[in-house]
Amino acid sequence: MTKSVVIAGAGQAAAWVARTLRSEGYVGRIVMCGAEHEPPYERPPLSKEQLVSGAPDMPYLIRHDEFAELSVEWKPATSVNEIDRTAKTVMLSNAEQISYGALVIATGGRAHLPPVPGFDLDCVHTLRTLDDARRLRASIKEGRRVLVVGGGWIGLEVAATARQAGASVVLAEMAPNLCARSESPFLSSYLHALHVANGVDLRLDTRVVRLTDSGDGGCMAEFNDGSQLKADLVVVGAGLIPNDEIAVDAGLHCDRGVLVDAAGQSSDPSIYAAGDVAVLCMPDGGKLRLESWQNAQDQGIAVGLSLLGKQVPYMPQPFFWSSQYDALIQMAGTAQAATTWVTRPGQENQQIHIGLDDADRAVYAMCINAPRDLRMLRRFIADAKPLDRQRVADAAVPMAKVALAQLG
Ligand SMILES: Cc1cc2nc3c(=O)[nH]c(=O)nc-3n(C[C@H](O)[C@H](O)[C@H](O)COP(=O)(O)OP(=O)(O)OC[C@H]3O[C@@H](n4cnc5c(N)ncnc54)[C@H](O)[C@@H]3O)c2cc1C
Repeated sequence: MTKSVVIAGAGQAAAWVARTLRSEGYVGRIVMCGAEHEPPYERPPLSKEQLVSGAPDMPYLIRHDEFAELSVEWKPATSVNEIDRTAKTVMLSNAEQISYGALVIATGGRAHLPPVPGFDLDCVHTLRTLDDARRLRASIKEGRRVLVVGGGWIGLEVAATARQAGASVVLAEMAPNLCARSESPFLSSYLHALHVANGVDLRLDTRVVRLTDSGDGGCMAEFNDGSQLKADLVVVGAGLIPNDEIAVDAGLHCDRGVLVDAAGQSSDPSIYAAGDVAVLCMPDGGKLRLESWQNAQDQGIAVGLSLLGKQVPYMPQPFFWSSQYDALIQMAGTAQAATTWVTRPGQENQQIHIGLDDADRAVYAMCINAPRDLRMLRRFIADAKPLDRQRVADAAVPMAKVALAQLG
């Protein structure tokens, strides 16, 4: 067993690596280097409750006072700048050099800011860190005019939160649909209706081409159709860039993230990766990089176990959730694998859609305000047996009964 583990990054995946090592009895040295000054925390609240209320209860995964208890040497505001794979050392931003027996890259990603003139103005925000959320919270106020650029998850959650705070919101998305990447046929139209009903001015097929300083702290936005809009603040939610530069520079195999196997091991057997920065090489030759809370936790745990020689192959079932207004949106599985769809009638504010493959196996589920159904459907997806589509589409048959017949 290795004598020391260095973790580059102090986010969600990093915290689960460290916690797993200690809970499984590892007694060696653990050093955790994080570019942020905060201890590891969960990011989902940043675009939800943190943005409205600045709720003081941040979900820290390791509190300040717990590092000593866990015997984890946490180095806040300290980046890993370089990996020397031959000497097995890392060079830190404070010029310190540390040796590792095993290194875990859990550096997550950063917000992508497209090269649009004016995106460097002070009124332009991105949202990845607690500091970003604090800055944004101070700007989103009742009556303010918010321009959200990008109709993906972060943009939509910020739009919902801004509306709830009483701001007016225009959302510009360059694709013809919202959340187009998710490839679920029901999702875009649902989100569209939800945001329009809540007063968001949605502009699809619309690109911001320029922002100019309006001299009052805000800006004028110009769109590709020549129209203009005055905004007090702009929030750009244009996707994530994996923080894989230290891995690329060290010569590890990377492809928009660090390539890893089911043990989380990279092309260097002493180096692992987990979370948003890790790209899982699948048995069928596919590559999977997930940007989700569930993956950061589960892959962090899997890497912790791998480091201890407990091989637990990590083959995730993609799972993601979002909350916007009063809608809890949950998705599991892979929409692209679905060839037909079954819709199960739900209550007025619910939706339950199940994607099936050619063999009638559930491969994807999308539920609105139906967490219990989603839980069951995740089991069907994992079960990978043909589903009785008549029964599952019949609201008169309780899901528990369907499950009993299906799963035994
Ligand atoms: C606003 C927001 C809302 C979200 N909402 C949801 C949601 O509702 N549902 C869901 O499933 N997922 C959600 N996510 C995604 C989820 O939070 C991420 O998938 C998860 O945080 C990834 O964890 P991670 O540990 O891989 O990366 P991170 O949590 O990003 O941690 C990486 C850390 O490494 C640090 N770092 C980077 N480079 C270096 C370096 N060279 N040296 C040292 N440290 C470095 C970074 O500063 C960061 O602190 C949301 C994300 C955001 C930003």
